[in-house]
Amino acid sequence: MKVKISAREIRDYPSEVRVKEVAKDLGLRAVAAQVDGQIVDLDHRLEEGDGVRILTFEDPEGKKVFWHSTSHIMAQAVRELFPEVKLGIGPPISQGFYYDFRRRAPFSEEELGQIEKRMQEIVKANLPFQREEVSKEEALMVFRGEDFKIQLIQEIEDERVTLYRQGGYVDLCRGPHLPFTGMVKAFKLLSVAGAYWKGDEKGPVMQRIYGISFPEQGDLERYLKNLEEAKRRDHRRLGRELDLFSIHEEAGAGLVYWHPKGAVIRNIIEDFWKAEHIKRGYQLVYIPHIAKAHLWRTSGHYDFYRENMYFLPVEGEEYVLKPMNCPGHIIIYKSRKRSYRDLPIRYAELGTVYRAERSGVLHGMLRVRGFTQDDAHIFCRLDQLEEEILGVIDLAQFMLQTFGYQDYQIDLSVRDPQHKEKYAGSDQDWQRAEESLVSALQKRGLDYRRAEGEAVFYGPKIDIKLLDALGRTWQGSTIQFDFNLPQRFNITYTDRDNSEKKVIMIHRALLGAMERFIGGLIEFYGGAFPLWLAPVQVVIMPITDSERDYGELIRKRLFEEGIRVELDDRNEKIGHKIREAELQKVPYMLILGKRETQGGTVAVRQRRKGDLGQLVLDSFCERLKEEIEQKQIW
Ligand SMILES: [Zn+2]
Ligand SMILES: [Zn+2]
Repeated sequence: MKVKISAREIRDYPSEVRVKEVAKDLGLRAVAAQVDGQIVDLDHRLEEGDGVRILTFEDPEGKKVFWHSTSHIMAQAVRELFPEVKLGIGPPISQGFYYDFRRRAPFSEEELGQIEKRMQEIVKANLPFQREEVSKEEALMVFRGEDFKIQLIQEIEDERVTLYRQGGYVDLCRGPHLPFTGMVKAFKLLSVAGAYWKGDEKGPVMQRIYGISFPEQGDLERYLKNLEEAKRRDHRRLGRELDLFSIHEEAGAGLVYWHPKGAVIRNIIEDFWKAEHIKRGYQLVYIPHIAKAHLWRTSGHYDFYRENMYFLPVEGEEYVLKPMNCPGHIIIYKSRKRSYRDLPIRYAELGTVYRAERSGVLHGMLRVRGFTQDDAHIFCRLDQLEEEILGVIDLAQFMLQTFGYQDYQIDLSVRDPQHKEKYAGSDQDWQRAEESLVSALQKRGLDYRRAEGEAVFYGPKIDIKLLDALGRTWQGSTIQFDFNLPQRFNITYTDRDNSEKKVIMIHRALLGAMERFIGGLIEFYGGAFPLWLAPVQVVIMPITDSERDYGELIRKRLFEEGIRVELDDRNEKIGHKIREAELQKVPYMLILGKRETQGGTVAVRQRRKGDLGQLVLDSFCERLKEEIEQKQIW
């Protein structure tokens, strides 16, 4: 019997072969498999001509199976320890898994410890996960008294339902799962939270336990260390401690207030951004924040993006708070006739938009309702495409690398070749656009992942995702073609032969949004901003009152040089002042004692590095200015 292992390889097996035998044959530590697109248990029996892809923990789908199976182990432990609890559901999530239980009181730390201990025993017993198919009536009998499971069974449309058993525990589940509990070598229960059954605010409250698991102890330890580090770097916490920004539920969730120190960082980035764009032939524009509904009907957003938009009446007419900047830039383009000689036109704006996000998904600065995109729209001719894309990729890389991001993951999202009819724009448009994206990536020697079917309906795009030291990915730059809006707004230019031609439109954002980018930067630097971005660059610390005047003199001098400087002349011990400045992550401290005052020098301390010795003020100034100019990162 022939089984396809990959696109290239076909292997011969005796009939009745199971997935696990193929996995063994390939020498893979399989957790599950994909057979013709469907994820199945290792026990799954193969048929002639099946195409198999073995999944290990390294595959995203494999992780899901692994984590989900661990949720069953946890549920078994909870069921055995707390028989009064009723079972909800236990899916995998992006990192780990959870299981919802109905119970009056939340689980305590101590109870979590007991559950972990019981889980260890279940893992050690190496119980098989056994799949079983039964009729709905049988399933209703099995789960008698389990109100939530009963509800789920009643909602299933098929006549047969699948159960999975391990030891004395049984769960209602479609699967697949690991073959044995013993594969879950390392796990940890991380937290508990209340959660509504099925997310319905009027429904019962469940007690949700979150956990994570791995095939090896070392993986778990690494993960927990990273988790600790991520907590330490959490931008919400650092934003509060460093007085950068705040969010106020009473003023509106998902809306960011930039405090002076956060605003300094944003301002510097915005100035840098503007200067670099002007250098590269972009023109800055501004557009109003509200526009008549009519504009959004023309753009299509009124129908297709409705649930994300805020509406407001003005003199009996409906207006929309802009969720995007594109229609505004199109209005400027269309304000006069454009000739082939005018192109490319590149309009750039730090454009603030508002989008109605559900309160449940809001998260600090990373997921908000009001944000400022570093937006630009490029209008160009077909023959200018590739050069424009190259220009955007170069600028994106330059910007991201300036902030210290060196590792990216690049995704190229293209059409689903099976369903070409779903997309706006002609076949030729799509081909040319994709060619220009691929060619630009190749010219710059950038690796990318081609994702078929992941393009939005109006054009292909490139996403540059940033990787941080903890292995997390962050949304960075997006370069997006649009074949839809030029059509809807009839955006054209007059060509050499006097005919009106459709213009090519590209949306692009390099940093994404100021909120998300700076929120990410806070975590990337752990709050310790490089000198050019640091809200306070230097703190001057006189040791006693006698050095106060000298301190003031230096403060004035640095201030005049454009340095962001503070004088800490409080009556505190010098050690205390240094500690505070270190906590505030100030890059440089100047300690002033008798020796410095008399010699006209400063004793320099650098954040984390400590004492740099004495310098005359002029050379310290030179050093700072050079470091700022070069945007050094240390
Ligand atoms: Zn399951
Ligand atoms: Zn746009």
